[in-house]
Formats: sequence, structure tokens, C-alpha cells
Amino acid sequence: MRGIVRILVFALATLTIVLGVRAALLRSKQPRVAPVARVPLDEAALAERLAAGIRFQTISHQDGVGLDESAFAGLRAHLEASYPRVHETLTREVVGGHGLLYTWRGSDPSLPPIVLMAHQDVVPVEPGTEDRWEHPPFAGTIADGYVYGRGALDDKGNLFGQLEAVESLLAEGVTPRRSVLLVFGHDEEIGGEKGAVAIAKLLEERGVRPLVVVDEGGSIVEGLVPGVDAPVAAIGVAEKGYVSVDLSVEMPGGHSSTPPRETSIGVLAAAIGRLERHPPESRLEGPTRQMLEEGVGPEARFPYRLVLANLWLFAPLVELAMEQVPAAAATIRTSTAATIFDAGVKENVIPSRASAVVNFRILPGDTIESVVDHVRRTIDDPLVEVTARPRNREPSPPSKTTGEGWELLTRSIREIWPEAIVTPYLMIAGTDSRHFRDLSDSVYRFMPLRFELDDTRRIHGTNERIPVAGYADLVRAYRRLLENAVR
Ligand SMILES: [Zn+2]
Repeated sequence: MRGIVRILVFALATLTIVLGVRAALLRSKQPRVAPVARVPLDEAALAERLAAGIRFQTISHQDGVGLDESAFAGLRAHLEASYPRVHETLTREVVGGHGLLYTWRGSDPSLPPIVLMAHQDVVPVEPGTEDRWEHPPFAGTIADGYVYGRGALDDKGNLFGQLEAVESLLAEGVTPRRSVLLVFGHDEEIGGEKGAVAIAKLLEERGVRPLVVVDEGGSIVEGLVPGVDAPVAAIGVAEKGYVSVDLSVEMPGGHSSTPPRETSIGVLAAAIGRLERHPPESRLEGPTRQMLEEGVGPEARFPYRLVLANLWLFAPLVELAMEQVPAAAATIRTSTAATIFDAGVKENVIPSRASAVVNFRILPGDTIESVVDHVRRTIDDPLVEVTARPRNREPSPPSKTTGEGWELLTRSIREIWPEAIVTPYLMIAGTDSRHFRDLSDSVYRFMPLRFELDDTRRIHGTNERIPVAGYADLVRAYRRLLENAVR
């Protein structure tokens, strides 16, 4: 007995030492750079040009209906008037109707170009919520240190910010060695087929292989990760896939006075219940694990640091904690969401058909096929017919978190925000940049903006806004990124 106790004590002591040593050895991976001086900018003028851009109602409606051609043409004219040097020096091609491709040709054609992306279109304002806006969504109001309006964050802030950066570098006489491409799709919110897809195809035909692609995505916020006090600059290195599955059950219907033992509604509801109770397995891997182990782990407070340094042991615990927060749970598993249920027309008639749609956001590592397989195996009922809907996409393969492109972006971020912790992460939402995955192994989703976590809820919602001072820093960050890329 004594021997066993002694062995246990020894094992426990060893474990404590191993955990502690691993935590102590966890070295920061943050690039060490000297912060650069803030370039003076006319912040009011920057805000005014963006606000004017918001006034063009470049809305993407579902299925692409009702596109306002004059709004896109108006936005284009506003860009021409606002950025004369850009339109004098860069070549501009209009692709697929309103997509824009700008090329700032570098002096050394052997260098792969840098691609900055943004989209011109915005989502509609949800009917019935118009009067909840403190300032009308398309008025482009500047108030209380913010530019208000639909698209301020998603994604006209990026679009105008990138053009501001190029315009101001041109004013300083900068001539790039490396080419700079600006890609502004006009239908990102409905899949990007006419804009980014067409432009990606064009670049592929021209043999363009970008060093790095930067599109909308994560940003710099505080309070994102428990145990980490510093603001976190989250760079999306992959995005989840998407598939919806149609489920349907055909069974004899009839009068509700003489019901059979099973009905189409009962069978389908049971199938959906099984899918909800048995979701695809969670996996703490890929960009999410990288974020915890390499990004925020070394910067975390005790005891978080101890846990994150020892995921070999604590991964199941961390997964359990993440499961409790839907936004965190979505980064470690393919999510299951029943979104449509359709059956029955009359209260005393048993319907012969019931149908439903379940939407899955696919974790990298899973595939459309593996998800559909999972659905069939989990439901395990020949009465339920399972078919994948056509508008689907595989998860994007994770981009590199080493090499020239990654360093270029992360160093530039730290030069502007020395206090920020840069980290890879998995994006749950989709962006146009996924169409560039075959062109570059360094596709990053990041908006260089420091703002309040609370303001992220305004994206696609009510009272969307961007801070005027933050927007000026966004321009400074794009300037810095370009300076580092093209010299
Ligand atoms: Zn967007």
C-alpha cells in the first residue's frame, strides 16, 4: 500500500513539474518589430469620403434580384473623383458587370504581387428595423466619432481604406517594385460568382500567383479569449465549408381520427432529434489549436497559460469549456442547425409528406461527402431521404502561418499596434478570398481595425459604424503593409 502511495506521489510530482516546465518554456511567437511613427492624416477628410461612399445603396439582394446598377455606377464615379492619383496611375478593369480590378504595376515583374480585397456590396437592412438606426442606414452620417451606415465595417471601410493608402503613397511618389492588385467584388454577400470568382479566374488565366492575399475577416478586439488581457489581432487562415441537406419523408397520410403508429412528421422530427443529439465529433485541431497553442497561449495569464501549454493533457477539458459557448463551439466542430421544417396543411389531416433542411458549417478536415455520410449514418432510417443541396462549398484549406506573406502581414500589424497579439484563427463566416485559394497558399482574412467587441454585433445588424480614429489607423496599417510589400 505504502509503495503505491509513494508511486502516486512521485507520478503527481513529475506531472506537476512537466506541466510547469512546459508552461514556462512556452515562448511568445509575436514578431519583434519597432513601432512606426503615426503618419499624419486628415482624419475628417478620410471619414467624409467613406461616408459619401456609404450613401450609394449597393445592396446585394437574395438570388441577385433587384441589383441597382446606378448605385454601383455612382460608387465607381465617387471613387474616381475621390482618388485621382489611383485612377491616373493604376489600370482599372471592370469585370462581370461591376467587379473592379486595379493593377499598380511594379518595376520588378519577377516578384509575385500582393492582393488586397474588399467588396462593394452590402446586405439589405432587415425590414422593420429601419427606425432602430440612430442615423439612417444609407445617410452616411458622421457623429460622436463614428461613421454610421450599412457597409461602414462590412466592407466599405476596407475598400476605401485600401484606396486611401494607395492614393497617399502615390502622393509621396512611391513606385512599387512588386505589383499591387486591388480586387473589389460586387456580389460577395450572395456568393461572389460574378465579381471575385470571375476576377480570380481572370488572374489564373494570366498566371498570377500572389505572394499574399488579404481580405476582410478578423480584426483587433479585446476580451476575445479568456485569460488574455491584450487586444488580439485574429487573422483568419481558413474558413469553414457549407452544406445544407434536404430531408424528406413520404408515408401514407389520412384522416387524423384513425392515425397510424407512425407519421411523416414523427419520423422526420425523430431524425432531426438524432442529428442534434449526435453532432459530428469535435476536434481541437488546425487553426483553432494553433491559435490557443501558438497565438494566445504564450501571452495568457496563469492558470490559462498552464492549460494552453499542455493541450496534450487538457484538450478534452478545453473542448468541454468551448462547447458551452456557441461561437467557440463552432470553431471545433462541424455545426448542425435545423433551419426549415415543412409539413401539414390542415389540423385534421395527417400529411403524407414532411420535409426539412438542416444546415452544416463544415470544419476543415471534414468534407461535404463526410457530412452527408454522417447524416445518413446518424438518422439510420430508410424512410428518410437525404440529399445535399447544390449551393455548397468545401472548407478552405488552412493557409501557411510561416513564410514571407505571413510575416509581411503580422509584422505590419505589430508595427502599427505593438500591443496586439497576432494569431491565426478559423473563420466561421465566408469571404470572397476563398475563391483565391488555388492562386496562393497565403490567403488571410483580416481587417486592420481596432474596435469594440460589442461593435462586431452591428455587422449585418443595426447601427453599423466604424470609429473615425480607428479608420485612420486602418489606412495607416494598409499603408504600412503596402510599404513593406512593395519596396
Ligand atoms: Zn463582408
